[in-house]
Amino acid sequence: MKKLTFLLLALSFYHYSFCWGFYAHEKINYLSVFLLPPEMIGFYKKHIDYIREHATDPDKRRYAIAEEAPRHFIDINHYGHYPFPLLPRGYDSAVAKYSRDTITTYGIVPWWIQIMKARLVKAFKEKNAVRILQLSAEIGHYIGDAHVPLHACKNHNGQYTNQHGIHGFWESRIPELLAETQFDFWIGKAVYLPKPLDYMWERVMESAAAADTVLLFEQHLSSRFPSDQKFSFEVRNGIILRQYSSHYTRSYNDLLEGMVERRMRQSIYAIASYWYTAWVDAGQPDLSQLTPTPFSEEEKKQMDTLERHWRMGKIKGRACE
Ligand SMILES: [Zn+2]
Repeated sequence: MKKLTFLLLALSFYHYSFCWGFYAHEKINYLSVFLLPPEMIGFYKKHIDYIREHATDPDKRRYAIAEEAPRHFIDINHYGHYPFPLLPRGYDSAVAKYSRDTITTYGIVPWWIQIMKARLVKAFKEKNAVRILQLSAEIGHYIGDAHVPLHACKNHNGQYTNQHGIHGFWESRIPELLAETQFDFWIGKAVYLPKPLDYMWERVMESAAAADTVLLFEQHLSSRFPSDQKFSFEVRNGIILRQYSSHYTRSYNDLLEGMVERRMRQSIYAIASYWYTAWVDAGQPDLSQLTPTPFSEEEKKQMDTLERHWRMGKIKGRACE
């Protein structure tokens, strides 16, 4: 009985996961640095550990404040069918048409990225190294989320189609199993984005268009896969985790024909391009002499609070699962 209780406890941990997963968000932010031009790469490389480690701060903040959750997704199929002509692409027009409450309820990720970008431009203009690093790390998170198909779909965790857990399967399990050994991250260089909002909408539309495939292919695979081979058990940090088996994960990734890898690559390209665009829009400040001042007591307190809320594990608003 004791064993059974322990196992059930462990199984409940299985659903505890994050947007793109912590692993993928960190990897995406880290790799984005290498696409930057010579004038930027020195500064970013020097602080690459910060950029990587703080890729997940926005997810941690979801445990501290309720307003955080809608910044990570847009349930775009609430507004009709692809390509969603009814939804105005500008935030003000969208709010005027549907109300702020509705827009917030169904997610604001493409618009939130523009707010983060404006803040990053300001930080560059002020040559505020700490803010540049914070905002670069965090905008990387939101841009990464916008590339995940199930972040652009109401059925975000297969809850309407009996596919509970598919969210973490696509964005956490696949990259964790395959990114190091099978994904190619040779990507090229950041580019200037003359119309960042339009650019982000294109990425969101790609995500929305791919969401059906993500759901349908898993349904097909599940229906023809021996049910006793779908999951495997693994001990991690003393806890038994039930997870999608590597055989099932590889089969799904094969069916998707590299979709997860493509979206990771596209995220990296978009993040580096947003950083670069913000820097250009700020007048290309010289970053070579910038050194971050130590964090103030207030900033340290904020970081501690973030970490504490996250460890307590009570999310406010929608979780990725
Ligand atoms: Zn997120």
